[in-house]
Order: sequence, then structure tokens, then C-alpha cells
Amino acid sequence: MSITINEIPVKRVDKSRLPEVDFDNLAFGSVFTDHMFRCTYREGRWQQAEVVPYGPLTLDPASKIFHYGQSVFEGMKAYRDSDGKAWLFRPEENQRRLNISASRMAIPELPDGLFMEGLKALLEVDRDWIPGQSGSSLYIRPFIFASGTGFHASPADAFTFIIACAPSGSYFSGKVSVKIEEAYSRAADGGTGFAKAGGNYAGQFYPTQLAARDGFQQVIWTDDHRHEYIEEAGAMNIFVRIGDTLMTAPTSDRILDGITRKSILQLAESEGIPVEVRKIRVAEVVEASKNGSLREMFGAGTAAVVSPISSFGYRDELFELPEPEDSYAAHFKKRITDIQYNRAEDPFGWRYPL
Ligand code: PMP
Repeated sequence: MSITINEIPVKRVDKSRLPEVDFDNLAFGSVFTDHMFRCTYREGRWQQAEVVPYGPLTLDPASKIFHYGQSVFEGMKAYRDSDGKAWLFRPEENQRRLNISASRMAIPELPDGLFMEGLKALLEVDRDWIPGQSGSSLYIRPFIFASGTGFHASPADAFTFIIACAPSGSYFSGKVSVKIEEAYSRAADGGTGFAKAGGNYAGQFYPTQLAARDGFQQVIWTDDHRHEYIEEAGAMNIFVRIGDTLMTAPTSDRILDGITRKSILQLAESEGIPVEVRKIRVAEVVEASKNGSLREMFGAGTAAVVSPISSFGYRDELFELPEPEDSYAAHFKKRITDIQYNRAEDPFGWRYPL
């Protein structure tokens, strides 16, 4: 399906909140820009899109998002380089994945152009909100939810697509210790794990709270069958380095097809780093930790970029990870952020100018 995206009307704020923002002390995703992009779906089609002041929405209590959690989202970032130019990183991948998520959740897909044109229109208006401080970026949250009403458990007939943005600093501060989860599952075969559906995240909060009581920042999910294989973390794909081999789980029904993950795999392959995309047994990671061949574990995702894991808990044991001098995590973090912030060549054409 394709519609013509007319000129997107912009209703600007009277007074920008930009001067109130302390760009040197940004938390993650908690201050929002002046505007948002909005488009609604009703009567069987996406309507006229617009950019409007950021602010509360008015929703009917019977909106199906509240009852059935029919919603999907994306997470991406805009980066500012040292010359002040602004960039996105592989935005078409987010567009593609949002539609994959939407169709799994019985949400109408976005027509060609709506996502990218909406993004560009919004970022043109809120361009000055893209931070220039090192390590900071403008986190971008596109999302679609069921705004149609009814207490009948069936798909809504109206939806709202919004893009909102938050200038952000780093996602994790300090070391990340993770718990390998054996009791709870994040996703199941045939389920919605591969989709960025809101409910996938709500279902993780309680087990993550339990893990936090034991001092862990994140849970590493294992397969729902026998909790035998490492899958992914809350909002990151997981990489393991045993010896010099870099490993990550294959994507599946249960695992999100992460853009950072696939970028790291492509970089590693192009650099001749041995890579294995295969199911990784928890037992082999524990064994590798005991015999000293487990050199690194790290998470990879848009928000956290590449996040080294300092230790992991499994059953009642805590396993510390070494900090190798030739760290893959540090290497890929640098390679990816150098591309994102236009500090290096972009051999795969991942940067997208704004
Ligand atoms: N897994 C999950 C469950 C996530 O929510 C995310 C964040 N989108 C990722 C992995 C990493 O994906 P990406 O690199 O595309 O941000």
C-alpha cells in the first residue's frame, strides 16, 4: 500500500522549552522535545499527518490499548557530528521492523513514506534538540497504539502513530551485572518475542525487579523450553566471546532482530573476526567461565549501544568476567559510534543525513 504524503502541516509551540534543558546532565529518555509527529488511522486508512506541540493525549477509557495492549514501538537515535550536521543510523531498518511488529499485533502497517517523511518533518522542526555533547544523542520513539474503542477483545478499528523524541545521555551508568533467568520466560515459539510490542516489555518488569533485589541490572532470557540457551536481554541482544570467537544467538520467533546486532555481525565478518551465529548453551558459557576461555559478554542495542557485562549470576553462583585489553565490546562500540557520529568512513552506507 502506498499513499502520497502531502506536505506535513506543522503547528509550532509558542515558546520553546529548549533553553530550560541542561544538555550536560541528560538522563535517558526523560525530557521531551517541543513537538511530536502524529497520524491517525480510521475508516480503513491513515489520515493526514501533522507535527504538533508535544503534550498529553486525550483518549477514551475504552481505547483498546488500555485493555488489550495492542501497541508496537521503535527506538532509534539522531546524532550530531562535530560540524553540527545531524545523522540517523539505518532508519529504514526501523521502518521495516515497525511494520513487521505491527502486522504481528494486527495493527495496520504504515504506508511507504509515512515513517521517513514523518521523521524528517519532526526532526526538521526539533533539529536544535539533537545534542552535540559527546555520548549524547536524540532518542527517537516511534509508536503505534490502538486508540479505537470497545470492551470486545478484538483488534481496534482506529490507531494512532506518534513519533516523540528525548535528548538523552547514556542508558547504563557503571557496570552491568546480569542474571541468567531460569524461572521466567520473555517469549515463546509462535509468540510475539520478535515484535517490539509493548506487552513484551511489561512482562519483563517483574522478573527484572526480582533480579534487581539480588543486585542485577538486567535479566538474560533463556529459551522457554528448558532454559538451556542464552537468548537476549531486556532491550539488548547478547554477544559472548569465547577465546577469540564472537557468538550470538540466531534470531527467531523469540528474539528481536536487533539493528545493532546485525551491524556488529557485519563489521566482525568484514574484519575477519571469527563469528558464530548459533544457539549458545548456558552450560558452555559457565564452563568457559570456569576454564578461563570466556573472555567477554556484552549487550548490543540502540539505547545502550554496546554494553560490557561485568558479571553474570547463574543459579546461586556469580561469575566475574575479565576485562580484556583487546575488548571486542570496546572495539565495536567505537566502530559503531564513529560511524554514527560521522567520525569515520561508512563502508556499508548506514549513515542517513538529516
Ligand atoms: N532486543 C530487544 C528485546 C530490544 O527491545 C532491543 C531494542 N530495540 C534490542 C534487542 C536491540 O535492538 P536494536 O539494536 O535494533 O536497538
